[in-house]
Amino acid sequence: MKTIDLRSDTVTCPTPEMRAAMARADVGDDVYGEDPTVNRLEAMAAERAGQEAALLVATGTQGNLLGLLAHCERGDEYIAGQQAHCYKFEGGGAAVLGSIQPQPVEMEPDGTLDLDRVAAVIKPVDSHFARTRVLCLENTHAGKVLPLDYLRRAERFAREQGLGLHLDGARAFNAAVRLGVEVSEITRRFDTASLCLSKGLGAPAGALLVGRRELVDKARRWRKVLGGGMRQAGILAAAGIYALDHHVERLAEDHENARQLAEGLAGLPGIFVDPDAVQTNMVFAASDAQTLATLRDHMAERSIRLGTKSPLRIVLHLDVNAGDVERVVEAARGFATAGAAAAG
Ligand SMILES: *Cc1c(COP(=O)(O)O)cnc(C)c1O
Repeated sequence: MKTIDLRSDTVTCPTPEMRAAMARADVGDDVYGEDPTVNRLEAMAAERAGQEAALLVATGTQGNLLGLLAHCERGDEYIAGQQAHCYKFEGGGAAVLGSIQPQPVEMEPDGTLDLDRVAAVIKPVDSHFARTRVLCLENTHAGKVLPLDYLRRAERFAREQGLGLHLDGARAFNAAVRLGVEVSEITRRFDTASLCLSKGLGAPAGALLVGRRELVDKARRWRKVLGGGMRQAGILAAAGIYALDHHVERLAEDHENARQLAEGLAGLPGIFVDPDAVQTNMVFAASDAQTLATLRDHMAERSIRLGTKSPLRIVLHLDVNAGDVERVVEAARGFATAGAAAAG
C-alpha cells in the first residue's frame, strides 16, 4: 500500500521527469559563476519574482539568514513575528552567526504583523539600542495568505521608517496561486525574498534568495562564507527550473485537496476542523492530546503518516492525490466509528 505522508510538503520526492532533467543538466563551477544551469535558474527566478537578481541557496533557512546578513551588520536588529520561522525555527541563526538581534512581535490571527505594533518597537537612534534595520514578513504563514493590500501598506511603512523589507516566502508560490496572481505581485514589494524549491514545488533541495542586486551580491559573498558555495550545482538548479516550469500552477490541486480533506474531516466527533479556514495546502485539526495520539496510531496502521504536534497540521502536496485524500477521509471515519463504538 502507498504511504501517504501528510506531515509536511518537504517530504515530496523528485518525479521521474525532474530526475531526467537533473541528469541532463549542463554544469560548470558555480563559484566561478560558470554553471550555465544555475545561471539560467537565477535569471528565471529574478524575472518571475520581479526582482533584479537571484541566488540559488541550499535551504530556505539559508535564504532567510543570507537575507538578514545582506540587510544587517553586527549589532543591528530585525523585526519578525513571534511565531515566524526566521525567528523561532532557525536555531537563532541570525543572532548566532550574524550578531543580529531579533525583535519579535505578536502576530495577528491572519499571519500579518500589525504595523502600529511594529512601529512601537523600532528603536530610536541612540547608542543604548541595537539599530533596527529590517522587517520580516512570512507568506504563507501556517497556510494563510497575506492580503495584497497589506503588502502594499507594509511596503509603504518600511519606506517611511527607513527599514528594509524581507519576505520569508518559503510558500510564496502557494500564496500567488491562491490569489490568482503572478508571484511577482507579492515578491516585488520586498527588498529580498527567500523562496523554497523543496516544499510543494517538489525539488529535492534548494531555495532562492531574490532581491535588489546590491543585496543579492552581498548575500553571494556570505553564502561562500557559510560554506554554501556549491560547485556543479546545476544538477540541483535543473530540478528548480523543472519545478518552476511544471509544478507551480498545480499547487491549486493541493489547495483543492486540502479543502476536500477538511470537509471530509469536519463534523467527525472529537476532532475540530474548519474547512473555511483552509486557504492553501494546510489543514489544522484540533483535539485533545490523547485523541490525536490514538488517531496517529490508527492512521499509521493504514500507512498514513501524521505529525505529532497539537493542533495537528496536515499538509497536502505533490505526492498526495485526490484518491489518497479519499483514503485518508475513509480511515478517519473508521477511527471515529471505532471511537463511538468504544465509548458506547
Ligand atoms: C520550511 C520553511 C523555511 C525553511 O526552509 P528549509 O528549506 O527547511 O530550511 C522557512 N520558512 C518557512 C515559513 C518554512 O515553512
